[in-house]
Amino acid sequence: MELNKKEVKERVAAYRDELLDRLGKLIAINSEEGTPTADMPFGEGPAKALHTALDMLDKDGFKTVNVDNYAGYAEMGEGDKVIGVIGHLDVVPAKKSDGWDSEPYEMVEKDGIVYGRGVSDDKGAVVASMISLKVIKDMGLPVNKRVRLIMGTNEETGSKCLEHYVEKEGHVDLGFTPDGDFPGIYGEKGIMRVDYHSKSNNILDVKGGNAVNIVCDKVNAKIKAGSFDETRFASYIKENGLTFESSKDGDAVVLTVFGKAAHASTPDLGINAISHLFAGLKSAGMDDPFVDFYCSRIGLDTNGASFFNEAVTDEYGALTLNSGVISMENGIVNGIIDIRFPVTLKKEDVIAKIKLEESNGSFEVSTAVDPLFIDPKSPLVTSLASAYEEITGDTTNKPMVIGGGTYAKEINNTMAFGCAFPGKDYRIHNTNEWCPVDELLLQAEIYVHAIMKLVEV
Ligand SMILES: [Zn+2]
Repeated sequence: MELNKKEVKERVAAYRDELLDRLGKLIAINSEEGTPTADMPFGEGPAKALHTALDMLDKDGFKTVNVDNYAGYAEMGEGDKVIGVIGHLDVVPAKKSDGWDSEPYEMVEKDGIVYGRGVSDDKGAVVASMISLKVIKDMGLPVNKRVRLIMGTNEETGSKCLEHYVEKEGHVDLGFTPDGDFPGIYGEKGIMRVDYHSKSNNILDVKGGNAVNIVCDKVNAKIKAGSFDETRFASYIKENGLTFESSKDGDAVVLTVFGKAAHASTPDLGINAISHLFAGLKSAGMDDPFVDFYCSRIGLDTNGASFFNEAVTDEYGALTLNSGVISMENGIVNGIIDIRFPVTLKKEDVIAKIKLEESNGSFEVSTAVDPLFIDPKSPLVTSLASAYEEITGDTTNKPMVIGGGTYAKEINNTMAFGCAFPGKDYRIHNTNEWCPVDELLLQAEIYVHAIMKLVEV
């Protein structure tokens, strides 16, 4: 069935005020994860946001179900098959003193842009999805499948909401989660965390990194004086685009090396302070079992070539490796690396490639999550991508593979689609999160077409 694009556009546009009113109400609810209670598994805020959203959809005349305050959904249409549009109502913490120009939990609109925690990730997308369901209903379009707008409340801190939803309600037959990028993400790399342990003769203390999924931008180390050439170390650091500070503490040299942060899924965009500290010490002549272990097995590669002793890749994108955090306890250096492996590999096969024991140290895989891969030629991917292309006219950007993870990993037959338009940074998880109102409307328009294409698959 050929949808009337102009009519969809006009009907969505007519809901502009309604969309902003709903989004403002949801932004006003601080839905950061809170203290769990007997019937509110993620605390009061997420449950309140869920009740408010379900109430809106109930008043619209949709059938609504609250799945134990983990998630909830609104449904339209009849049939055996379920199409899911899956967003989330929880947010990552925000407070004005972090550097916001306005209160994060009071939505403000300025020059056609709304600001507030969640306007993009992901309350904006949820509200745009609500509008798309309303438009489909208003237009009386034939819906021979059950279309569900599923809203979770724990995406940011573990996705236990969707796990619970799937346990109670099952998977969907086709779906998308507007919590990633247009024109869709058909592959999400596998994620692995590997701990390492080693002994050092010269490093007395070391501490660096805030999180394993971030390229370390600062590391402190206390090192035996005379175990390396300080002048050579200084020139190494300078040559590699880093900076450092140095001071004396008795017989020790205290070094702080500064690199550049980036997300672990794109480690080549950062400069790893930990890896350069040890590469610098080695080039400055330090003879040490830990430094040898680190430089030979982890080193400066961001593609894991040293770690796996081969390049691990497939046609959709290479493996990435990030050395995230390091510390020392009782004379043992402990660190964690974050690996994102290609979408067509299985975790067992990747683990089998790792040499765990070395004479100077050892590795241990602590977490491993398989990748998500949906055939880019499958109807799910091509239907969604064509809805995007037809409405935006953008033929340049194509569905992609990413190193991060979304809801799509938690529920079958689902891929991330929207809500971010290509090349834009909405400052999600950051201060002054923003979204243009016209883009929220454009999202709703795209979702109408996307849902109707999935209905026809
Ligand atoms: Zn999100």
